[in-house]
Amino acid sequence: MYKRLLVLHFPPDITDKPIVCILSRDFNLCFNILKAEILSGREGYMVLELSGEKRDVQDGLRFLKAHGIKVKPVEREIRKNNEKCVHCGACTGICPTQALYMDRNTWEVNFDVTKCTACEFCVPVCPVRAMEIKFSRDNILQ
Ligand code: SF4
Ligand code: SF4
Repeated sequence: MYKRLLVLHFPPDITDKPIVCILSRDFNLCFNILKAEILSGREGYMVLELSGEKRDVQDGLRFLKAHGIKVKPVEREIRKNNEKCVHCGACTGICPTQALYMDRNTWEVNFDVTKCTACEFCVPVCPVRAMEIKFSRDNILQ
């Protein structure tokens, strides 16, 4: 299975067309919409994960570009919201790189962003949703 995480920028004249349905129906692709802001008749964007056979994904991307849709890869990063974190430690056991670790002096959970691979394992295990996925705004708003 080949996967691409992308941001699509829609020109105004195409925002009312069922582009994502066409990707699924005609190119046999699975999609997961992570974020979208699309208003009919205005420019819009969508953060989308596409998966399928590599050739089908590439054909789908060609289809998008042929319809004037700008396609860019998404940069994503994980952040720890320290205002929400209750230092329960649930994320430290699942983090494969020890980017999340318990400080044995303070009993607080720290986050070393330089070790984070953005695998997202920590996101669903956090009971207070303190681990957040951020998409590069430069990428999205370009
Ligand atoms: S995204 Fe993965 S590597 Fe980064 S802190 Fe979470 S579990 Fe650790
Ligand atoms: S699971 Fe969430 S609340 Fe618990 S230590 Fe990790 S980030 Fe903090």
